[in-house]
Amino acid sequence: MSRLVDKFGREHTYLRISVTDRCNLRCLYCMPSESIVWKKRDEILQFEEIVRIASILVEMGISKIRITGGEPMVRRDLESLVARLASLPGVKTLAMTTNAVLLADKAAVFKSSGLTALNISLDSLQKARFQEITQRDDFDKVMAGIEAALAAGFESVKLNCVVMAGYNDDEILDFVEFVKDRGVNIRFIEYMPFPDNQWHKGRMLSSAEMIKTVEKRFRLVPLPGETGAVARDFALAGHSGTVSFISSMSDSFCGTCNRLRLTADGALKSCLFYAPEMSLRDAIRGGISDDELGKLILEAVMQKPEAHPPMEELVGMANRSMVEIGG
Ligand code: SF4
Repeated sequence: MSRLVDKFGREHTYLRISVTDRCNLRCLYCMPSESIVWKKRDEILQFEEIVRIASILVEMGISKIRITGGEPMVRRDLESLVARLASLPGVKTLAMTTNAVLLADKAAVFKSSGLTALNISLDSLQKARFQEITQRDDFDKVMAGIEAALAAGFESVKLNCVVMAGYNDDEILDFVEFVKDRGVNIRFIEYMPFPDNQWHKGRMLSSAEMIKTVEKRFRLVPLPGETGAVARDFALAGHSGTVSFISSMSDSFCGTCNRLRLTADGALKSCLFYAPEMSLRDAIRGGISDDELGKLILEAVMQKPEAHPPMEELVGMANRSMVEIGG
């Protein structure tokens, strides 16, 4: 099977698999404020279909898989899918991004099923503000989930925080204080525009501004990054924790992009901000062979754009909502 190299010479080695469009939180930067039409059960890929697609993509060069949602843990029996993906030869990293509401009882189960890394979404360390952003009173469950993840001994535990100017940007230093001696990484993510997620330019704080804030109290030591990595990583001088910045809007990283996305309803999305997709689900349910499926995947990769348009042009552009893509 051919490697996943696009027309700009970028090789794709990282697959993000959304296993559901549903979530148990209602984060304002992710979930559309107006009514969302959930996918029906038969529209969603079955585990067998996900494993089939993933195994073909791994054969074509994917070595890192991330499980996302919506909130992946609302999908029943997820640990069995984790075990099947972990057993695919060629998968070096199997990660998951979760809001940790359901993690406290399951962290050790996922670890023993083969999950190697966890990213936990948390946008406030204040209980009341957490409820404001997520419209749910689950702060204590999330904090218990974080402790369980640390206790389970994952190779990597990272916190993902979407920084929204005028909303939670006053907590940047609190997050750094929270991770500095826990050996945990905090990733500050620039707010991105998606359909109906209340984005406007005034709410977008750039990584450069966030770095200035952190440097008021800490000395940042640049860390080497992996090819294709989205984050710029820094050590905190004198501490075990690390800090990262994801500047997709102010300083994009499309030139080294190595990511493909599979949506919960089986569409291959070559780029986060590129609306055209390839339905692998329909092809599979139409009886396609593995070889033909590989060709279809390559066709989608060859259509991938060089980069996303400037942030102002993203507003109003046709696209799925963030909850349907999974970041
Ligand atoms: S916007 Fe598209 S091309 Fe750019 S880094 Fe994201 S997925 Fe890759």
